[in-house]
Amino acid sequence: MNKEIEKEVINCSRCGLCMDVCPVYKYKKTESSVSRGKFLQLLGLIRGDLKYDKKIAYNLDLCLNCKKCKSACPSNIDAMKIFATVKSEHLSFIEKMSNTLFIFKLKMLGLKVFYKIKYPLGRIKKACEINFNEPKTAYFKGCATDATGMRLDLKNGKFSCCGLPFYTKGRIDLYEKCKKKNLDLIKKYNKVVFDCATCYDTVSNYEGVEKEKLFYFTDFFKNENLCFQKPVKVAFHKPCHMNMEKYEEIREILKNIENVQFIDYKGFDDCCGFGGDFFTRHIKTASFLSAQKIENILKVDPDIVLTSCPTCLWSLKFGIKYKKAKIKAFDVSEFLQSCIINQNRP
Ligand code: SF4
Ligand code: SF4
Repeated sequence: MNKEIEKEVINCSRCGLCMDVCPVYKYKKTESSVSRGKFLQLLGLIRGDLKYDKKIAYNLDLCLNCKKCKSACPSNIDAMKIFATVKSEHLSFIEKMSNTLFIFKLKMLGLKVFYKIKYPLGRIKKACEINFNEPKTAYFKGCATDATGMRLDLKNGKFSCCGLPFYTKGRIDLYEKCKKKNLDLIKKYNKVVFDCATCYDTVSNYEGVEKEKLFYFTDFFKNENLCFQKPVKVAFHKPCHMNMEKYEEIREILKNIENVQFIDYKGFDDCCGFGGDFFTRHIKTASFLSAQKIENILKVDPDIVLTSCPTCLWSLKFGIKYKKAKIKAFDVSEFLQSCIINQNRP
């Protein structure tokens, strides 16, 4: 095992603080579903007491890459990095072949077709135009955002995938390839605009990225006087990869929209359970977390729940259907574009 990773694994003091925050542990209640237990197995590999097998591979995959354990960990141990590195050292030929750029594009195409059939009229009507088309400004169109058809009217920068789907599967080589392409492209622009919290977080964390060029879509709405078409109660689901600063900014924008009553609720930052394509392999855990998320939202009885990541949005839609709830879920970018810019308001 990589020496740097070994050192991090050995650093785990077994304090168990990660157990309080891990969404997978919340459902599974088993030691092997949380960082502490996974690190214990990796310690077995380091000491030579265990061999990497299907069980260990399964446990490493049983992670939403939500980063919650890292935030709670007194030693700041980066579980996502550790699991990705260990996976990369043990990838089988089949795992490599099923996680290529080509296969990923095929999956996204499938998702696009599915979305077109399932939600043909799923959009809310666009009402306002913000002039995004400043010179040398480009849109970072996330792969899943593209598949769900929520793109902004902005010149597409032809960026590659942010790389996270490859990183978490242990294809660090492909992640590096995507990162290199994106870093080179960012150099050509003055502004790069994101509307997916997960892409934004991943690209912001590239080593050497020109961070001052990266903008979140909602930044353009900070100083606008917005008005929604009718009175509504709105709640927001914070994606795991969105930082609190960005969340507070979005909360402020929503709170200031005419006709919008923004409602806070307990668990606004709980993981939605879908975690990229985690839900395709761990459907019971994902369904439990998605349903629990909706239960918490229903307690404050909103008309609309918003989020800022296509996978989270999918989970919300799934949870709403599962719970037969009467609320609607939209991406915050769609919602803001459906508001009227009220020039008369002071
Ligand atoms: S919080 Fe960090 S140090 Fe504590 S058990 Fe979890 S991974 Fe180990
Ligand atoms: S990243 Fe999230 S799901 Fe994975 S072990 Fe940490 S807290 Fe649990």
